[in-house]
Amino acid sequence: MLRYDHAAAVVGREVERARAGAATTQRVERVPLAAAAGRVLAEAVVADRDQPPFARATRDGFACRAADLQAGGLRVVGQLRAGEAWTLGAIRPGEAAEIMTGAAVPAGADCVVMAEHVAAQGGAVGLGEAREIVPGENIVPAGAEARAGEVVVAAGQRMGVTEIAAAAACGGAELPVFARPRAAILATGDELVEVAETPLEYQIRNSNSYSLGEQVRAAGSEPEILPIVRDDRGATERAIREAGGCDLVLLTGGVSMGKFDFVEQALVALGADFFFTGARIQPGKPVVFGKLANTYFFGLPGNPVSTMVTFALFAGPLLRALGGESECRPRFGMAQLEEEVRVKAGLTRFLPARVESDVRGARVKQVAWQGSGDLAAAAKANGFLVVPETTERLATGQMVSVLEI
Ligand code: AMP
Ligand code: MG
Repeated sequence: MLRYDHAAAVVGREVERARAGAATTQRVERVPLAAAAGRVLAEAVVADRDQPPFARATRDGFACRAADLQAGGLRVVGQLRAGEAWTLGAIRPGEAAEIMTGAAVPAGADCVVMAEHVAAQGGAVGLGEAREIVPGENIVPAGAEARAGEVVVAAGQRMGVTEIAAAAACGGAELPVFARPRAAILATGDELVEVAETPLEYQIRNSNSYSLGEQVRAAGSEPEILPIVRDDRGATERAIREAGGCDLVLLTGGVSMGKFDFVEQALVALGADFFFTGARIQPGKPVVFGKLANTYFFGLPGNPVSTMVTFALFAGPLLRALGGESECRPRFGMAQLEEEVRVKAGLTRFLPARVESDVRGARVKQVAWQGSGDLAAAAKANGFLVVPETTERLATGQMVSVLEI
């Protein structure tokens, strides 16, 4: 039974391997820019020309020489709009060009004075009131953001809003992205029935296949929800074998010490290597991780909150790495604790919690719960407050770490 940070380090080691493997073996497909959202870039997007391609005015105003401004009025020699070429030659001492945001600053000028800061007298402009204007003001020099050929979005980056904008600016109408890994989802349990069925009194609806399906999708992969597996060693072995064509096998339930928990036994019988069997965490203590032939697997505990937390901590990062993503650690944020939390030391805890954030930061409060089967509490939560293994009390007002789901 590993400490949380040791278990995380074991996953981290496999994440490195999986990522290196994905970079060479994962299939690459080309998709239109608009379809690239959420996909992982397989080759870097490089600047196809200097950015900006010309010295760009960042304000509406007048392009001139900063040194001339203190002297008095400048003669306005022309007007320049964004998207227009300047044809009137270099700006000379004592001259200014009226210029709009996004236009190329003419040669000779070294600053743009904001329209709000000038006063016009006849055909001349000057500073409205005393103010220091330095060379370079309101100009982004050509190539200052990126030089032609420079990497703007690195391979391994998941395409979000900023990456899509940057790729668009470089002419990336079609982008090479890694194929999405496929994750098989196998829920085990004699008590489970499908969501649309009417359960008998002692039966439970299978929720894990659906929470995992969504977590897999959010990690950029394709879920394959397979039929429920009964608590039987042979049936479990067959189901695992059939799921082996996927990039990752996710099992839920059947990993505890009960007489009818067959997942570990089935994996042993199939010849699996185990990287860990159990971690000192709550929820999720019985989690197992390993590899069967070339396929990674996780045996996630069946309690629904344990399933989602162990996916977020361990399986999600590995799945992202299998998809070639370079940033795949679990996501933690900091928040200020609104109410004291007391626990027994000995396990790293991930307690359902509600985070509210605004421009000043985030505050977090634990959600009352009945333990790792309490989906109603989980549904009220939007994160999991982290209590380190050796901590018994987190004080009101303290900054604490929160796991994002
Ligand atoms: P297990 O890990 O198989 O011992 O299951 C622990 C608890 O989680 C039991 O109360 C199960 O009924 C419940 N459980 C197991 N699998 C699922 C599932 N797929 N959906 C919802 N609850 C489950
Ligand atoms: Mg079970």
